[in-house]
Amino acid sequence: MGSDAIEGVPARYWRRLADGRIQCEVCPRYCKLHDGQRGLCFVRARRGAELLLTTWGRSSGFCVDPIEKKPLNHFLPGTPVLSFGTAGCNLTCKFCQNWDISKARAFDRLQEKAAPEAIARAAAEAGCRSVAYTYNDPVIFLEYAIDVALACRERGLSNVAVSAGYICPEPRAELYRHMDAANIDLKAFTEGFYKKLCTGALQPVLDTLVYLERETDVWLEVTTLLIPGHNDEPAEIAALSAWFVEHLGPDVPLHFSAFHPDYKMLDVARTPAGTLTQARRIALEHGLRYVYTGNVHDPAGQSTWCHGCGAKLIGRDWYDITAWALRADGRCGACGTPLPGVLEARPGRWGGRRAPLAVAGNLPA
Ligand code: SF4
Repeated sequence: MGSDAIEGVPARYWRRLADGRIQCEVCPRYCKLHDGQRGLCFVRARRGAELLLTTWGRSSGFCVDPIEKKPLNHFLPGTPVLSFGTAGCNLTCKFCQNWDISKARAFDRLQEKAAPEAIARAAAEAGCRSVAYTYNDPVIFLEYAIDVALACRERGLSNVAVSAGYICPEPRAELYRHMDAANIDLKAFTEGFYKKLCTGALQPVLDTLVYLERETDVWLEVTTLLIPGHNDEPAEIAALSAWFVEHLGPDVPLHFSAFHPDYKMLDVARTPAGTLTQARRIALEHGLRYVYTGNVHDPAGQSTWCHGCGAKLIGRDWYDITAWALRADGRCGACGTPLPGVLEARPGRWGGRRAPLAVAGNLPA
């Protein structure tokens, strides 16, 4: 395909190399492109002397979700979030749980164009408090994500990034200037896992976690998908937890979620609930205060407990809030210990519903 067929908007973060190729500097892959070539993510492509983002304004569909589904348990609990993504990804995880979107090549999943203001307006009209850049990674569509985020802030909506955190420092700083919360996927705690199963690297992800927690006001939560036989050894969970407490502190929530066989990893069984419970216990023993289980029915592991007195602060059953024992100032109703997060006097009442939404010509997913 000649480069004339490539359409898009000018991309940021690239430079021309001495040999004439263009190097994308959004993520640590540093794809080096000849005219007409696309990066590994497929959505950043070279046309002549410039690099383009080919998915600006293109979405794979919109849905209103509970914020707990991102998952974020300490950020405006109980409120609805408008979720959307585009296509492509900059990692190649064999166990991808969203592969129909992240691996989309022909853009057949992408529907009508949606202007940033149309998304912000639809989110506000649907009663959402935030918009989430999710399903695939906003790292690769950051120019579009930032334009949508600007429109959302104009309307008083918050912005949520759901990302694997595989991004270079300069674009990272720009993307997260526009974000209010993030859930970062920490896929495992070994370089071998990232190399073998994602063709990526662990260290840039750890750098992103430390950056977000120490250098920004973005509310951070972290998710690790536990895959039997690949990243669920107690010793690895212990090492992850020790690093987590030392570098991020005890108050950053950590979610252990259950894998289901998908994409190129159909030969591995679903994660047993006991593995998640064990991982949660190990992390708590290492000093983390807010550790959750996900993708399983585990009301105790999904609820928020006061680290001061042990009272149940927010009860959850899947994505439904079943109890709320916080004072209006976000402190434990029993002992007054503050709960870290972005909290309001009362929880939202969205519940566990998932509702497809049409946006500016986009059809419901
Ligand atoms: S964002 Fe895409 S094109 Fe750029 S370096 Fe990463 S994978 Fe390559």
